[in-house]
Amino acid sequence: MSLKTTNEIDIVRAISSKINDVDFENLSFGSTFTDHMLVCDFKEGQWQKPVIKPYEPFMIDPSAKVFHYGQAIFEGMKAYKGEDNSVWLFRPDENLIRFNKSAVRMAMPEVPENIFIDGLKTILDIERDWVKKGLGNTLYIRPFMIAIGSGVIAQPSTQYRFMIILSPAKSYYSGEVKVIIAEHYSRAANGGIGAAKAAGNYSAQFYPQKLAQEKGFQQIIWTDDATHTKLEEAGTMNVFFRINDTLYTAPTSERILDGVTRKSLIDLAKREGINVDVRSVLVDELLAAAKDGSLKEIFGAGTAAVVSPIVGFQYQGTYYELPKTENSIALQLKDKLTEIQYKLAEDTFGWTVEV
Ligand SMILES: *Cc1c(COP(=O)(O)O)cnc(C)c1O
Repeated sequence: MSLKTTNEIDIVRAISSKINDVDFENLSFGSTFTDHMLVCDFKEGQWQKPVIKPYEPFMIDPSAKVFHYGQAIFEGMKAYKGEDNSVWLFRPDENLIRFNKSAVRMAMPEVPENIFIDGLKTILDIERDWVKKGLGNTLYIRPFMIAIGSGVIAQPSTQYRFMIILSPAKSYYSGEVKVIIAEHYSRAANGGIGAAKAAGNYSAQFYPQKLAQEKGFQQIIWTDDATHTKLEEAGTMNVFFRINDTLYTAPTSERILDGVTRKSLIDLAKREGINVDVRSVLVDELLAAAKDGSLKEIFGAGTAAVVSPIVGFQYQGTYYELPKTENSIALQLKDKLTEIQYKLAEDTFGWTVEV
C-alpha cells in the first residue's frame, strides 16, 4: 500500500517519559496513555499544521458545540509489535475511510490522509517503546474529532480538533459474556447515524446497557428498530452466529457499523473453507436453532476484544445457554487473525502496514 509521507508535522517532545511508571502486566483497558498526543485544528475552512506534543489536558470554550450537540466521532485501531521489534498497523486505510464517512454524516470536515495516516505513523514511531512484544500486547489507538467552535446556536461548528491518543492494552478475558436480545430499545434506525462511529451512538446505549447489566447481562444484541425481529450487532462489536457449520452475520447497512474485524473474519473464514452467509438472522431462527441444538456459537467481533465468545442469551425472559464447543470457529478465526496482526503468519491479504 502506498502511504504518502510528509515532514509537515511539528514535534514537541516530552521532557521525560512516564513509561517506567506503567505496570504493563496490569493494565485496565483505555485508562493509561502514552507520553504524546497528536493535535490538528481545522479553522477558516482549512486544516492547520498537525503537532505532536506531550499528552495533557486542554481548554475549550464551555459553549463549544461538542458539549451541546455532540458533534464528535472516533476510531479504534491497534498497533502490534513483531518478534523483530517492527511495529505494525492493521488495515489503517479502512479506518481512515470509515472516519471520513462518519465525518461527512456528522457535517464535519474530512481529515486528509497525510494528517491521519502520516500523523499516526509519526506518533507511533515516537511511542515505539509503548508497543510491547508478545501475543495480546497492543497499543490501542484512538483517533477522534470534536467540534470546538464556540456558540450554543444549533448548527455545525466551523472549528474542529482532530487528535490521536494512544493507550497500551493487554488482551482481556472479559469473563463469561451473556447477552440480552433487544426487545424495546434501539441502537440505530434507518436514516440515522448508526453506521457512523459517532459519540452519541454510545451514550444512547448506556441506559439500556445499565438495565441489562443489572439483570446480569454484559451486552445487548441489538435488533432492527422497526420490528425487533432481525439480529443486528452488539454495542461495540459486530456479531456472528454459527448454526451447524455455517457462520451468519448481518450485512452492513445504515444501522450496522462496517467493522474491520467483521470483514477480515469473513475473508479469513472463506479462506479456511468455512461457509459464511452474510444475511440477517431472525430472532425466531435463533430460538429454533437454540432449541434443536444446531446453534453452536455466537461471538462478537471488534478491534478491542478481537473475538468475544458469548455463552448464552436471554429473550422474552427465557435464558438459552450455548453448548460448549470443542472446535470453536470463533477461537480458530481469532488465532488466524492475530497471527497475521503480529506477523507470525504470512499476510496473504496485504492487510498489515509497517510503521
Ligand atoms: C467499532 C464498532 C464495531 C467494530 O468495528 P471494528 O472496526 O472491527 O473495530 C462494531 N460495531 C460498532 C457499533 C462499533 O462502534
